Amino acid sequence: MKRIGFLIKPASSLCNTRCRYCLYADVAEHREVANFGIMTDDVAHALIDRALAPGDDADITYAFQGGEPTCAGLAFFERFCAYVDEHATA
Ligand code: SF4
Repeated sequence: MKRIGFLIKPASSLCNTRCRYCLYADVAEHREVANFGIMTDDVAHALIDRALAPGDDADITYAFQGGEPTCAGLAFFERFCAYVDEHATA
């Protein structure tokens, strides 16, 4: 069985909590584009489609990281999971 893991950063640098130990704000400020916003559904769907391409026998893990991934909002994760459920065949 193929095992495939995705580490997804759906909220770019949107978090403004500024925990003292966080390095992300500093990293983002030095990028050409500091904040890419919330991942669009088109990008999420393309990722999921590619993840599901190997077929039914693949064991796929989606993990979310940040900045703080919950900045993407509950609706983002509901849509993400719904799309996976609609398109996964196993
Ligand atoms: S991304 Fe995480 S660690 Fe960084 S400020 Fe936000 S909550 Fe804190």
